[in-house]
Amino acid sequence: MEVHLALTLALVQLGLFALCWLLVAVLMPGERRPALLFLASIGSDALTAWLQVSQAGSLSPVASWLMGLSLLSATLVSAGAEAFVAGRVRHVRAWLALLGAGTAAAWWPLPQTLSEVGPLAVYQGSFLLLLGLPLLWLRQPLRQEFGRYGALPLLPFGLMALAVLAFLVHLALDPADATRSFASRSDHGASSLIPFVISSGLFHISWLGMMLGRQVVRAHSAARIDSLTGVLRRGAFEAECEALLALARRLGQPATLVFLDIDHFKRINDLGGHAAGDQVLRRLGRLLQDTLRSTDRCGRWGGEEFVILLPGQDRARADATLQRLTQSLARAAIPVPDGCAALTVSIGYAVWTPGSAMDPRQLMAQADAAMYEAKRRGRNTLVGPGAMPTGAEVVTPG
Ligand code: GH3
Ligand code: MG
Ligand code: MG
Repeated sequence: MEVHLALTLALVQLGLFALCWLLVAVLMPGERRPALLFLASIGSDALTAWLQVSQAGSLSPVASWLMGLSLLSATLVSAGAEAFVAGRVRHVRAWLALLGAGTAAAWWPLPQTLSEVGPLAVYQGSFLLLLGLPLLWLRQPLRQEFGRYGALPLLPFGLMALAVLAFLVHLALDPADATRSFASRSDHGASSLIPFVISSGLFHISWLGMMLGRQVVRAHSAARIDSLTGVLRRGAFEAECEALLALARRLGQPATLVFLDIDHFKRINDLGGHAAGDQVLRRLGRLLQDTLRSTDRCGRWGGEEFVILLPGQDRARADATLQRLTQSLARAAIPVPDGCAALTVSIGYAVWTPGSAMDPRQLMAQADAAMYEAKRRGRNTLVGPGAMPTGAEVVTPG
């Protein structure tokens, strides 16, 4: 009775996780592949649990099925983890080869498998690689995406791999004792359900959590980042600008706000099509991000207009920064369609100095006016604050 209760609980838990993965597959098309692989692993786990309990005591031929199913679950789980991290299953052949080798060894006519060192070593060796390779392949990318503790969901892989490694060492040191203990372990049914339920629960909860975490981060970034250029969207830029200017006011530090507009961009679209224009915007966005410091902020105001905030930079430093920027742009020689002149920009900037009563909106308006002054003066020009709208300072880049 207790045995059946344990089995029922295990199956209910697996059913709930299966439902979660089904929902993920339906609601998150980008994560369908890993979700379906994890769903399939649950199917194989459920079958394993049921076989284990219902056939407890009758060693052959159920043990070989159980061993094969355990390997299938491990393969699906490893492939699912890889699909989650890389967007696809990268090492299909490696997983299939390990599954094939391990299953062939597991199905070596029983009771030989359980008592022969060779098949048992191949079976456990395949298991070790199925569990150990994700640790090698996925640790770094998980850390990159989820931060310092991002590889923690690989812990179940590590713990199981350690257990398998310990068995392999046992097998090498005392083959007779190891095979005996494996044969008795393969036959004790329900008691092995408890660690199974706990470890599979931990596994599915942590990977579901990561799946959800990724969606939250993506939604947050989509709301902030302009998908074409990779810089901040206008709203996010304005919000950061206000916060940084408030900080500058509190600390008594200067800040510079910059408006940058591509010269004759319409001509690029007209001659090369919108795809060529988009490519130019993409390259310029990347160049701006590469050239500016991580403490600076860059946004897309709209169309081919960009805005930059340089915290802590007074007029002289901002001027040097923007000179450097136009030089980088000239060096980068972003490709433009035939018939277009080399890509240039018109830049206007305004400086907030400690004690100034200007609010962010006024600063923005001043930088915008300076940019239009740069256009009026023939483009490919940097115009600083001072004598707007007449007599503004003009510095020709280069
Ligand atoms: P100026 O030197 O005076 O700034 O001239 P311009 O041609 O750069 O400026 P104008 O405002 O006449 O044209 C801007 C063009 O930018 C018009 C619009 O179709 C194009 N544009 C706006 N957003 C995008 C975009 O996301 N992709 C592409 N390819 N073109 C865009
Ligand atoms: Mg323009
Ligand atoms: Mg414009």
